[in-house]
Amino acid sequence: DHLLSRDALLEDQGLDQSIRPSDLDHYIGQEELKRNLKIFIRAAKARQEPLDHVLLYGPPGLGKTTLSMIIATEMGAGIRTTSGPALERPGDLAAVLSSLEPGDVLFIDEIHRLPRHVEEILYPAMEDFCMDIMIGKDETAHSVRLNLPPFTLVGATTRAGYLSPPLRDRFGVIHRLQFYTPEELSMIINRTAGVLKTEIAENACIEIARRSRGTPRIANRLLKRIRDFAQVENNGMIDQQTARDGLTRLHVDEAGLDRVDRQLILGIINQFNGGPVGLDTLAASIGEDRHTIEDVQEPYLLQIGFIQRTPRGRIVTDQAYRHFHCKREDE
Ligand code: ADP
Repeated sequence: DHLLSRDALLEDQGLDQSIRPSDLDHYIGQEELKRNLKIFIRAAKARQEPLDHVLLYGPPGLGKTTLSMIIATEMGAGIRTTSGPALERPGDLAAVLSSLEPGDVLFIDEIHRLPRHVEEILYPAMEDFCMDIMIGKDETAHSVRLNLPPFTLVGATTRAGYLSPPLRDRFGVIHRLQFYTPEELSMIINRTAGVLKTEIAENACIEIARRSRGTPRIANRLLKRIRDFAQVENNGMIDQQTARDGLTRLHVDEAGLDRVDRQLILGIINQFNGGPVGLDTLAASIGEDRHTIEDVQEPYLLQIGFIQRTPRGRIVTDQAYRHFHCKREDE
């Protein structure tokens, strides 16, 4: 029931392909980014150049991969997809770069996880469309410069701060993806239901949207699960009651929080009297990875005002105490 876990993401991949919007007009929300991208794409096409390199950052599931594919489509270009952890050695990246066609989009997910000696190959590749490779060994070793076709690198990361400055500086467009409003998520759910040929009532879309942690991937996942309940128990129709019952059975609460969110907040309340508590102490006490808390769990909880970051650590707000019907010790 951890909606953003790696297993959950893998499970989504098959579904993802069919429900991904394929052009900017069907990509819902992120209005400012879309407005700007439309102009940058138009200008680049008019100059017959590839689009400048783009860095997208923000929590998982907000549409970074989808957007990279849309950029390629809108540019009329091909796309190569890889990830930081997959590029272990300089040769791995060199092989990908040398297979690019002119104008291609190269999407590197989790780009902050590129090893430094691999990352360094990207600098001349991004700046001058070339790479230096070492040939030979010991005293015969020398570097050879290879030209690459012009391409657009689209990098995705959960946090821009993880990137080394020399890499970050080579992106012409740097944009943070925002959480989606319930209205936007409701439109996404409606659209996905259409692709899945599932009948859904408008108030059911809103119910699921409200409880999807501002995240399209979660909205689509919840829809998929609730569709199963509807199919077996309600002739396939998702009405508001089916949605509500399904969300309860999936352990998603009224605020859209899942098991890990609850564990995190109740951990701070019960073990640290509401905080402040340092991130490492908190991570150890609830048995979660520090980075998962910081990049996956926490951003939404900060956004809805359930926790706050202070110089002395995380604290739980009164609003979260009320949501969980808890009282502070001194009350
Ligand atoms: P990320 O790369 O940021 O983790 P993805 O691009 O994989 O996120 O998006 C997750 C899912 O959400 C995909 O199935 C995609 O179809 C859907 N999605 C994301 N953003 C949008 C959007 N703006 N409009 C419609 N669907 C979206």
